[in-house]
Amino acid sequence: MQNIFAIKIMFKKATIITYGCQMNVNDSAKVKKILENNNYEIVNDINNSNLIIINTCTVREGAAEKVYGKLGELKHLKLRKKNLIIGVIGCLAQEKKDEIYKKVRHVDFVLGNQNIGKIPQLLETIENEDVKHINYTYDEDKLPDKVYADFDSKITAYISITYGCNNFCTYCIVPYVRGRERSVPINEVIDEINHYLDKGYKEIYLLGQNVNSYGKGLDENVNFTDLLKEICKIDKKFRLRFMSPHPRDFTDELIEVIKNEDKICKNIHLPIQAGSTDVLKMMNRGYTKEEYLYLIEKIKNKIPDISLSTDIIVGFPNETDNNFNDTFDVVEQVEFDNSYMFMYSKRQGTPAATMDGQIDESEKKARLQKLIDLQAKKSKLQNEKYIGKIVEVLVEGPTPKNPENYSGRTDENKIVILKSDQKNVGEFVKVKIYDAKTWTLYGKII
Ligand code: SF4
Repeated sequence: MQNIFAIKIMFKKATIITYGCQMNVNDSAKVKKILENNNYEIVNDINNSNLIIINTCTVREGAAEKVYGKLGELKHLKLRKKNLIIGVIGCLAQEKKDEIYKKVRHVDFVLGNQNIGKIPQLLETIENEDVKHINYTYDEDKLPDKVYADFDSKITAYISITYGCNNFCTYCIVPYVRGRERSVPINEVIDEINHYLDKGYKEIYLLGQNVNSYGKGLDENVNFTDLLKEICKIDKKFRLRFMSPHPRDFTDELIEVIKNEDKICKNIHLPIQAGSTDVLKMMNRGYTKEEYLYLIEKIKNKIPDISLSTDIIVGFPNETDNNFNDTFDVVEQVEFDNSYMFMYSKRQGTPAATMDGQIDESEKKARLQKLIDLQAKKSKLQNEKYIGKIVEVLVEGPTPKNPENYSGRTDENKIVILKSDQKNVGEFVKVKIYDAKTWTLYGKII
């Protein structure tokens, strides 16, 4: 995914190009705010920019090539505009800090994930001291400087509560590029949430690689449920979501808190990654198929209206037909509202990349298609249950295809299309659902 924030300033303009996950989108929103505070105006047009920052991802194998391709395109621009500053931030910057300058001489700075707060001082150094190739990739095991973000939508604010990961799933590069897991103290999280609520945001999304192991590295003995309970004491109307929890750390206490606290949305994204216990073991996920299904059963028993989504990797090395059938079986049994499904792709630097038994691409594609078809059927069935119901929708804005239609989300994270106008954007409205497609509900404000 690529997002472009366009900035324009009094004299200086900047463009931020973002690849990768929500954590990166979140970091880019912070960079945007930092630049605006330093008199930059964000613009989309790179030809019109004095500063181009590429926020990079390394989770998939092709991601680095994409970034190098984009940097290659910028070479001519740099030759034409001598004062143009080009910076690389994000996971590739952290992982390949030494390689980037060797491959791309026209990059001015490389900045690790923890160091985006240093952007103003770094720009000042480049502008005033004529230095080249600055590298700020240290302190990766510390919490980053506290920086507020300017999110595109004034509705949802994303707040990182943990950084890094200790899990070392065998396909994942994150622990190698984002360091060991550490948590933001509860009082700082609360302050940040209050900051965005005071600005009018209506939804708070807590982010972390493994949110429900929150508490690591803190002096106080607190866990994720303590944090959720504290947040829910804030006396304002808002929705609270979090992403992503790990099935192994999903406690009974957490299920109870989700059930009891109205502010916590009744939607859980619980990545399973594979339905086969053998594959889960090879992935180092720390749970079995049966344990995952038991957890889902407990959640559904306690919170019958819960909506569930997951992540699935198809075609992990050595995945047999039987192993794949286990994944198919889990999707059949759990009836997720939605699944984010991917074909396994090698990520150099991870144990899985060098495993024997890599699966043929055409086989992976066929398995993925089978799962997509099943999930589509399940999603449609889940959505049809909403027909005739009255739900609360947080209106987000006009749809890109038809500006007369507006879209919003229910507590369960269902997208609802409705007739509205600008005055409802950012508001909670009651909506009666009259139709349901595979991925979308249709409703009327009542
Ligand atoms: S839990 Fe596993 S997949 Fe998620 S970030 Fe950590 S190592 Fe990667």
